[in-house]
Order: sequence, then C-alpha cells, then structure tokens
Amino acid sequence: MPSSTVKRYIEPALPPGFPHKKTRAAARKMPPSPPRGVLVALKTRAEIRSGLQTINCYILPIPSKTANEVLLALREIIPGNELQHLRRLSKPAYLPPNVAANLPPPGFPPEQSLLYILICQTDKASIQQIVEIVAKTSPFQRKHGRPITPKPVVSVITVPANLPTSPEQCTDWSKKYWPTVYKRGNPFGPHPALVENTVVKLTRADEYMALARKVAQEVGEAGVGYACGGVVVDPETGDVIAAAGDGRLRKSDMGWCNPLSHAVQRLVEMVAQKRLKRGEVVSPNNPITALTDTERVYLNTESMETLDGQRRNGVENAAEVGGTRDNSSYLCHNMHVYLTHEPCVMCAMALLHSRIGLVVFQHRMIHTGALVAKIDEGLGLGLFWRPDMNWKYLAWQWMAVEKMTNEIPEHISA
Ligand SMILES: [Zn+2]
Repeated sequence: MPSSTVKRYIEPALPPGFPHKKTRAAARKMPPSPPRGVLVALKTRAEIRSGLQTINCYILPIPSKTANEVLLALREIIPGNELQHLRRLSKPAYLPPNVAANLPPPGFPPEQSLLYILICQTDKASIQQIVEIVAKTSPFQRKHGRPITPKPVVSVITVPANLPTSPEQCTDWSKKYWPTVYKRGNPFGPHPALVENTVVKLTRADEYMALARKVAQEVGEAGVGYACGGVVVDPETGDVIAAAGDGRLRKSDMGWCNPLSHAVQRLVEMVAQKRLKRGEVVSPNNPITALTDTERVYLNTESMETLDGQRRNGVENAAEVGGTRDNSSYLCHNMHVYLTHEPCVMCAMALLHSRIGLVVFQHRMIHTGALVAKIDEGLGLGLFWRPDMNWKYLAWQWMAVEKMTNEIPEHISA
C-alpha cells in the first residue's frame, strides 16, 4: 500500500462505551522489531557439579600388538560398564602433555610401538594385583634373546568421573586428563537433542520478551509493583495466554500490600482464572484483577483453546478427570513462560507445580534467582531440572544483543 494512502486514512472515532477497543489495539501494537537477544541454555546443577568430579585410575604401557592379550588378562578387574566415556587405549601421542610429562619411562625399547591401557579406578584393585596379572602375559615374559625382561610400569592418573555433557567439555577433558568420548547423552540434564530441537522453535522469543518488558514497565510506572513481568505462551499456537507484571506494591482497600504477588504468581492465577471461566476443574476462586492495559488485553482474550485438557490429551470431558493427577488438571501443562527476571524460589516452584514446559528469562537475579545452578554464584539451586523433583522444565537466559539495564534492585525476589 502506498504511503500516501495510509496518510489519507482517518481512523473512525470509537463509539462511547467501547474504550477497551482502543486499549486493546494500543496494547497489541508491538514495536516493529523488538530488541534482539540470544538464548543461552542453563546448565543443570548436576551438569555443573559433574564437571568437577575426578577419580584416580591406573594406566599401563604395553606393546600395541599385545593389547588384546593384555586386555583379556585384565578382564576381571576392568569394569564392564564404568569409564565408558574414556578411551580404553591411547597412543602416547594422544596423551595430554601434562600427563605424559609425569609418566615414568615405559620400560620398552623406544622403537617399539606402544599403547597405554586405562585399567580401572584405584579403589577397584591394587598395583600388586595388576602387576601379578599382566606379568603372565607375553610382553612381560622372559624370551630367548631379550636382554632384559620388561617390568609392568603401572601409573596412576586423574580422570573425569562422569560423562562429558558437551563436545566442548569432551575436548577440554581430552586435553587435560585422558582421551575422552562424547556420546551425545546427558545423564545430568536434558538430552542435548531435546535442548537443540526446542530452541530452534523459539523463534518469537524476542517478541514475547518485549511484551514481558512492556508489562513490567507498566506496573513499575503505575507504582503497583517492581518492574518485572512475564507472559505465558501456548507453544502450539504461539498465542499469549497471559501477561502479568509484579503486583506486590499495590495496596488493597484495607491498605495492605500482598508481598507474594510476584509476576509468576499472577501469571499462574490468570491462567487459572481463564480456565475457571471455561468450567474446567481448577481450584483458585479468588479473582485476579488486571493491573494494566496490557494485562487486561490478555486476561480478556479467548486464547485458551489448546490449553483445554480435552484437546490436549483426548479426554472427553475435563470435568470427569478433575481432581485426578491427569495432565489436564495442571494449570500450565507444557506452556512456555517468558520472564524479565530470573524467578525466585517460590516462583520457580510455582512454575514446576503448574507443569510448565520451559522458561526463558532475561535478567539474572544473583541473590534471589532460583534457576541458575552456578556453584560459586548466587543460590546455585538450579530449580528447573533436578533429579529430586517430580517435574522438570527447560530453561534459557535471553541475553540482549544490545546492552539493557536491569530496572529492579538486585536483592529483590522476582
Ligand atoms: Zn517470585
């Protein structure tokens, strides 16, 4: 459409009594291109801790052509299903320089092609046991014409105790400890394929994050809460189900504030209220009030179709399964949540209890955030993916390409 046509167009005045139409249009109007960000997957608590655990293992140099024979002899002490992330055999050239530099001479002539066997953890056998076993194998037998019989030279090295969780970690360990194998599995967190396949679908993250910032800004400016906010998105349709800012500074008629009125709590309440309106069996019965225009827009929209348990899990009537542990009785089952700030412990657990699918947040809350699992920084809880919890969700930090400042004090629980 030519721009001149646009200029000539005059929007008709809204009839009296329908101010919400204008409000809705204004609230829906998003910036043409929201600030861009990069999604960085959070490491789980176990992933972070796994990187620090090492064990001591025995290694033994042998002539390469006798590797099978020596391995066979050592079979009784070589663990079957442990140390699978480490190469059993390594050429001397592939040993990390710091490891190779500390090894004693191998006891074989320098012209002989050698391999180092990684035998087992030091608490599984003694050096004496190993020496006794391998001394019976051909490399260590007296042979006619041999000037000296080589003695087994068993050394102890330090190796990572667990599987590497990324190719980068694998490379790093191979350089520092021992040739390591990356099996693209992750016993300490979500499978890498799950993380990769999910993140490529989060194509509207910038847009949702801009909306979360918008509601945050609105509650901040209105003085009803700290400038933090978020949105709940249905991943199947891309619809925004709820948008809410913090509301803990808003005074009730009695003059009281509700210190628990964090953005996440209000988001979950909004979803509950929308489901309640649909006659679904959910328990909250205290209506939530929209605090800003943007909140009102999304609280009033009917973007709940795929939240409906009937469609989601094929149940004929959601009321029939109400009160059971069926997925339809969870408020935000597999929904996506975008937050301006890393949620506090209460909110991270509220997300978990409502069975959220994933969380993206922008600002790290170093003193109060419950998602980041770093050991030497903050609470280190990693409350999104832990083996001791009965639900897990994926989590990313949205890192703004252009620098953006955190608008709320760092000691606040978001
Ligand atoms: Zn909170």
